Amino acid sequence: MTYRCNARCTMCNRYKAPSKAEEEISIETIKKLPRMYFTNITGGEPFIRTDLKELVRELYRKSDRIVISTNGFFTDRIIDLCKEFPQIGIRISIEGLERTNNEIRGLDNGYQRGYTTLRKLREMGMKDVGFGMTVQDRNASDLVPLYEISNELGMEFATASLHNSFYFVETKNIIKDRPVVAKNFENLVNRLLASNSPKKWFRAYFNHGLINYIYAQKRLLPCDMSFDTFFIDPYGDVMPCNGTKDKEVMGNLTRQTWEELWNSPQADEIRKKVRCCNRNCWMIGSVSPAMHKYILRVIPWVISHKAKSLLGMKYSMYELDICRKYRDGKVSKEELDKCSTCDINAVVSDGLSQDT
Ligand code: SF4
Repeated sequence: MTYRCNARCTMCNRYKAPSKAEEEISIETIKKLPRMYFTNITGGEPFIRTDLKELVRELYRKSDRIVISTNGFFTDRIIDLCKEFPQIGIRISIEGLERTNNEIRGLDNGYQRGYTTLRKLREMGMKDVGFGMTVQDRNASDLVPLYEISNELGMEFATASLHNSFYFVETKNIIKDRPVVAKNFENLVNRLLASNSPKKWFRAYFNHGLINYIYAQKRLLPCDMSFDTFFIDPYGDVMPCNGTKDKEVMGNLTRQTWEELWNSPQADEIRKKVRCCNRNCWMIGSVSPAMHKYILRVIPWVISHKAKSLLGMKYSMYELDICRKYRDGKVSKEELDKCSTCDINAVVSDGLSQDT
């Protein structure tokens, strides 16, 4: 919705390359979107837009389910929107316990604001609310404690790890101590598998995939972004996703109709690029559709690991070949770093509009 942001996160430079309010996606452009099964509204900070409620109202004509990712700072605006749309999902980014969160997000009282917003939403009876955490070296030890807090509050708990792309205006994000961060994910996977919620068992698989990702390995599932899922930026540019190094534009919805754009030769060219994309990212936006589509590849993992958990056997990150190889010194940190998307010499792309 916007590339403006009030936070100053260490892993995202988007706040340094904001969009201008007057060029951000309009209701007219939103009206051209096709019917959608699911929409994630993100930014920047989406609640910076004072017309967000009107945009959401329009989106509900198109989309069965909507989730907004926010830093939770604008409590009053969030509550006001949720009064009109109590069915909406809200994910508040909290990067750790209080001190770590505020250091990573660069918001002095960010944790208290985010946490207060979550609590108020809960008190209002909102069902689909939760935390979103980007796990990295600095906050990995807070992963399980934060999960426990979300659990006690009966909230969702969404995880991610560091990525580089035009969207984050970043090329240098990387996990430095992979085994330590992976160990915390391993603990989380075991907690999730021990629960009685099938949804959490699938989340365990997602987090298992995050361990695979931070070891810079091939995605566990194919990526079909641009075939059945897309990302639209504040300028109306439609792209496969927000994980590429530079903008890979299929067309522009401000200037074109949806049918023109989606069926264009340019869109097909981008689809060819997706087929050989080697970025191997593992973000919920591209993994969730893949988990639904390739469910038969996921279910055996979920059933076998839940069964093991019931028998008291723990999940281990060393079931991934790469974790064993790294532990046994058969692959070095430098080799893994080279396979990752971190490139300290790369030119950073900010993906801002070329028209302005
Ligand atoms: S792997 Fe998929 S989601 Fe990631 S950058 Fe490539 S096309 Fe985008």
